[in-house]
Amino acid sequence: MGVQVSEVRVRSILTRAGGYLRAVCSHSLQPYRGCTFGRALCGAGCYVQHNRWLTRGAPWGGFLEARLNAAAAYRAAYTRERRWARRARGSFSVFMSSSTDPFVPQEDRFGLTRQVLEAMLELPPDLLILQTHTHRVLRYLDLYPRLLERTALRVHISIESDRDRLPGLPPPASPVARRLEAARTLKQAGVPVVVTVAPLLPIERPRAFFQRIAECADAVVIDHFIGGDGSPGGSGARTLATALPAAIARVAPAALELRYRDRMVALARELLPGRVGVGCEGFAGRYLP
Ligand code: SF4
Repeated sequence: MGVQVSEVRVRSILTRAGGYLRAVCSHSLQPYRGCTFGRALCGAGCYVQHNRWLTRGAPWGGFLEARLNAAAAYRAAYTRERRWARRARGSFSVFMSSSTDPFVPQEDRFGLTRQVLEAMLELPPDLLILQTHTHRVLRYLDLYPRLLERTALRVHISIESDRDRLPGLPPPASPVARRLEAARTLKQAGVPVVVTVAPLLPIERPRAFFQRIAECADAVVIDHFIGGDGSPGGSGARTLATALPAAIARVAPAALELRYRDRMVALARELLPGRVGVGCEGFAGRYLP
């Protein structure tokens, strides 16, 4: 099954944050519509697939729209959106990205994420959170120290478990070991890096996993699909409608319950004291004491 790749020009690229993200940032920014990791492991439970406005009925992972003028649209909206954000939300903070991955393989061809980051060197937000599922984040390692001179940059790398496979589901877009190594490389380069264990999947060796994160990252954020997938009332209904829960149940049924998250949080706090966040508070950079 191929991927339909198309090119568009958008009117705006900065979306004022609502819902889960409202506590995290003032805006989200998606250089692409769709995500070509949608057929990888993270795509199985990805909450974006339920957004019909975004998918327009196309199968998740089967399309990618490149927003060719992403950087120009950022530049054009910068002054207005920064003014609004500072007034309404306290600061101009950008989450890149919440419904795509800024480092999909097609970024090699389009370079849209890079163009936006270069625009941010000239016109920096107050905070930039780069959120990714892949070691490809290292491709722009040359830019991050320069960005850090202009803005509070934080890189979030999603690593939901120490397992690369769950039964019946595809492999991840980027192996766990490579993502952990990417975190370590960023940290060594002085780039603040947070491992986001979200949504939390069954962990085979929890103590060793969190110990490794403690070495490779500045902090860890843990979130369960219950309360974390944007379902009404925090029920987790969106994820429960996907193939993910059955795969989790075949490995560790206890991981389907919120109590599993609490156990993992307690262990992580032992190994990373003061560096553990939970749910959207954690995504916002607020950690438990
Ligand atoms: S990388 Fe993110 S947006 Fe893309 S499929 Fe995975 S979870 Fe969804």
